[in-house]
Amino acid sequence: MSKRLSIENERGSWSLIGLLAALVIGLLLVVVFLGPQLKGRSGAQTTAGQAIEKSHEVECQANLRQVRMAIDMYRAEHQAAPASVADLNIGTSNPDFFKCPVGHEDYVYDSQAAAIRCPHPGHESF
Ligand SMILES: [Zn+2]
Repeated sequence: MSKRLSIENERGSWSLIGLLAALVIGLLLVVVFLGPQLKGRSGAQTTAGQAIEKSHEVECQANLRQVRMAIDMYRAEHQAAPASVADLNIGTSNPDFFKCPVGHEDYVYDSQAAAIRCPHPGHESF
C-alpha cells in the first residue's frame, strides 16, 4: 500500500480511506436513525420529502399542544372556555398558526368541549 493512502499521512490531512470511512459511518447513522420511520411508506416519496413531512407533523403536534395549554390558561382565568381560538393569547402573530402545517386545513375548535383537533388525515390523535 502506498504511503499516500495511509490514514496518518505526514500532512495531517484527510486520506482517501479516512474520507470513505467517514462517509460509510455517516450513511449508517442516517439508516439507523431514520430507517424505522421510513418503512411502510409509498416508494414515490423521497427520503428528503419524508423528513420534511415528519418535521411538519411534529410542528402540528407542537401547535396543538400550545393551543391546548392556552385554552387551559384561559379557562383558569375566566372560568369558561373561550368562544373561539381568536380569544386565546398564543403569543404569535403568525396567521397560519391555527392551520395544519402539513395539509394547511384550519384546526377544528369545539367550544362546548373546549377541544381543538387537526382534521388532516392521520393527525386525529395529535
Ligand atoms: Zn395536522
